[in-house]
Amino acid sequence: VWPALQADKIIDHVYLIDTRALGLSRTVAAYLLVGDEVALIDMGYRSSVRTIRQRMNELGIRRLDYLLPTHVHLDHCGSCGTLATEFIQARVLAHPTAVKHLIDPSRLIAGATEIFGQELVNRYGLPDPIAPNRVASIPAGQTINLGRGLVLKAVWTPGHAPHQVSYELEGKGILFTGDAVGVTFPDVPVLIPTTPPPSFDLGLAVDSLKLLNACDVKQLCTPHFGALTNAKDELAKNINKLMEWRNKIVELRSAGYSVDSLVGSLIDDVARQAGVRASEIPDYLQVLMRVNVLGFVQYLDRKS
Ligand SMILES: [Zn+2]
Repeated sequence: VWPALQADKIIDHVYLIDTRALGLSRTVAAYLLVGDEVALIDMGYRSSVRTIRQRMNELGIRRLDYLLPTHVHLDHCGSCGTLATEFIQARVLAHPTAVKHLIDPSRLIAGATEIFGQELVNRYGLPDPIAPNRVASIPAGQTINLGRGLVLKAVWTPGHAPHQVSYELEGKGILFTGDAVGVTFPDVPVLIPTTPPPSFDLGLAVDSLKLLNACDVKQLCTPHFGALTNAKDELAKNINKLMEWRNKIVELRSAGYSVDSLVGSLIDDVARQAGVRASEIPDYLQVLMRVNVLGFVQYLDRKS
């Protein structure tokens, strides 16, 4: 039984859409901004496109003018191509290094398959390619005026991935973070860094968190999952958590831990903080932990 209202209002004209990734509620969010023009920030997996359409219908929204994937991971951009085909006036804007992957998603699919395996990627759904004339890069600092007082400003936030853009909703104290901040799932309310292969970079991630902290921000709209108040505290917590992981991973690796035992140890930490047994941590979170530990280890190997 799902909660009746899946499109939650953040403020007037701004809605969270639960994309119900792989049928799971409250794991992957998208954000719909309804000015005179309509923008969608992140749009979930390809397999979530029907859910998004349904929520838009429920809200009475029949147009999309901007598709704004924060970065080109499949849980953020997977349905972008399908929606671009359906809403032919929509412009797709992304980080300059992301554009080519939206036009030709073959490398995204190959990369995701390497990390998650064929079966899971098939369940996520394969992104449709987007015609080159529909996609443009968005410079840092560029604004998008949607009307009705909704003005988005692009803030480049590399670290989680080099091709990431967050968006500040000017004058409203709201940031759409993308994966510049870690995940905090309502069902396991513990902050977990998102540090995946192949190009997580700790230094850039911390710099990006500081950059977001310098914005006029009270509320974070996160993809995994939902709106967080006390933005400044959350951003500081994210920096601390990244450093905590770094210290722990460095320490355990020098004690001879394998990646598997590292993953186990960090899952134990999360379970303890959530007050549950490690075996009660849901599968999707176990997968995520493994990916993030792998990305962090690869980063540390590159550095040394
Ligand atoms: Zn990501």
